[in-house]
Amino acid sequence: MNQEDRIKRLRKKLHIYNNAYYNEDESLISDFEFDMLLKELEELEKKYPQFYDENSPTVRIGGEVTKKFQSFNHNYPMYSLANTYSKDEIKEWIRRIEKKYGQNINDFNCELKFDGASINLYYEKGKLVRALTRGDGIKGDDVTSNIKTIKNIPLILNGAYPEKFEIRGEVILPIDSFNYLNSKRKEEGLPLFRNPRNTASGSLKLQDSREVAVRRLKCFFYSVVGENSFLFHSELLKKSRQWGFFIPETMKRVNSVDEIFHFIDFWENKKTELPYEIDGIVIKVNSIKVQNELDFTSKVPRWAISYKYKAERQSTRLLSVTYQVGRTGAVTPVANFEPINLSGTIVKRATLHNSDQIEKLSLRIGDYVYVEKGGEIIPKIVGIDQLRRGNFDDLIKFITYCPDCGSKLKKIQGEAQHYCKNENECKTQIIGKIQHFVSRKAMNIEGFGSERVVLLFNNGVINNIAEIYKIEIEDLVSLEGMAEKSAINLIKSIKQSKKQPFQKVLFSIGIRHVGETVASKLANHFGSIENLINSSYDDLISVEEIGEKIINSIINYFNNSQNLLIIEKLLKVGLNFKTVENNKKSNILNGKNIVISGTFENLSREKIKQLILENGGNLSSAVNSKTKIIIGGQSIGPSKKKKAEILKIPIISEKDFLEMLDT
Ligand code: AMP
Ligand code: ZN
Repeated sequence: MNQEDRIKRLRKKLHIYNNAYYNEDESLISDFEFDMLLKELEELEKKYPQFYDENSPTVRIGGEVTKKFQSFNHNYPMYSLANTYSKDEIKEWIRRIEKKYGQNINDFNCELKFDGASINLYYEKGKLVRALTRGDGIKGDDVTSNIKTIKNIPLILNGAYPEKFEIRGEVILPIDSFNYLNSKRKEEGLPLFRNPRNTASGSLKLQDSREVAVRRLKCFFYSVVGENSFLFHSELLKKSRQWGFFIPETMKRVNSVDEIFHFIDFWENKKTELPYEIDGIVIKVNSIKVQNELDFTSKVPRWAISYKYKAERQSTRLLSVTYQVGRTGAVTPVANFEPINLSGTIVKRATLHNSDQIEKLSLRIGDYVYVEKGGEIIPKIVGIDQLRRGNFDDLIKFITYCPDCGSKLKKIQGEAQHYCKNENECKTQIIGKIQHFVSRKAMNIEGFGSERVVLLFNNGVINNIAEIYKIEIEDLVSLEGMAEKSAINLIKSIKQSKKQPFQKVLFSIGIRHVGETVASKLANHFGSIENLINSSYDDLISVEEIGEKIINSIINYFNNSQNLLIIEKLLKVGLNFKTVENNKKSNILNGKNIVISGTFENLSREKIKQLILENGGNLSSAVNSKTKIIIGGQSIGPSKKKKAEILKIPIISEKDFLEMLDT
């Protein structure tokens, strides 16, 4: 088979597997096999760029960066929907449209109203060609490259689809994906997202499509536009399922007002069991002919109406705002109010996220605030009752000093959060750092719960993470509530934790923005803590998915001498600070910083890197005074060459390098 055929076959297969998995809940192959095929395709596409296809399954990985989204007119305006909170008004709506149409209408399609961001997709000859946001209804933004990363949106259609059509849907973030995303952000010390809807619509406007690809968005479709060869809206939707679109099974065709009400009541009770958020239901006239007759007002279609559920919202009096210092120093304001009952749980506080949020609400003590809770999401303050305001004198001003250690708070440019930068002395931060260090996902020290960390800290047994490894039985047994047996066990599990691999150690030391994933990327890339400490901005930027924010945080962390001291101590007690400890072959290159430049005849760059690490060397990409050797191939970078001459650093060939290792 020639390469073009191979590429085409891979694409076809992957489209089929993808569609089966995301839209029919059916795994035709294992995730691993899928990834292998995708990888193979990616490599082939790189090798044979002449067979480029803008709808290849590899575009789902993302990669395209949009600086500014271009806007385009919609072929058909994207109207909003008339809405109501009352069943009587639904009866009235039916009476009104029957009058206008001149006959009884008793065929409706009831659908859920998905709460996300609407999107309009254009397909031509079975291919996705453009995706526009709703925008102002007339004009939307072209977010095609971001949309292509959403895995349940078909890039290529199946079956007998129309030559050219538009389809509309709602991009949503399922609740568990939202929670997952936030748990990762929490881990990395990033401000949390407020709710799934904002996150979904914000995601569509991200400049880096790779970032969109990891957010686990989905698209639910609810209308095909400009297609008149079908009699019924519900049939058209069902048909589009066969083309590859995800149409939730929850929609229901009904023939009477009673059935509409039944649908409303059913989902009012069941909506919290859905894995995504809805904010109501939509009732549509099902006959496309009748729809066309009824047409649109200047704002909304006459043939549809949405029934919205009242949100679980209550007002309550704000008593105080307190501030929490996280382990990375981020300060989060918390609103404390008179307890209320929201869908069965007693709620008395809600996060206010950051100072911007307080300013936006211009919050005062004594204000009556509206608190809402949707699904499983943490409660939030959504507004203020303007008629019942607190005293102007009680306007809340964000604190300027750390509530714990009293040092001046700082705001990092581009971030909404305030930070206490006194990271080595601020008690809450130190305790938080230790708690993080011993936690299950980090060093996984069993029997070292949060309370116990506080106990040991307060009794002066440990003052930082390095001291954990100095704890002796005697230190423990004298403490209240610590039996000898549990003391022995704790010491044992502390010892046990020394086996944790480098990536875990790197995650555990708690560099802001360095979560589990980033830590393992860094560990793989640099191979050792020395390499990471010695890395320059350029070295760091070359690591996949590592951006400005993370880099600055890493550089800051290692610029702090106290942090370096702690790492040195941890190194001494024997924690793993190298990835390749196990496959170590020799110590010939012991600690030498080595730069690779140019292309090589016999060895791949990856192989050379591996050899360097296996023989005790450190990788770095920039030439500087710490560089000991440059391994140079053909067309070695001119600036590197010049620097090497100035700094008198030897440039050796791959042959020299191999000989060096042979001795
Ligand atoms: P609204 O923004 O409240 O005027 O409601 C209109 C929006 O509801 C549309 O732009 C869609 O984004 C969204 N929507 C969600 N589910 C549906 C559905 N099943 N049918 C029509 N629109 C829907
Ligand atoms: Zn502090």
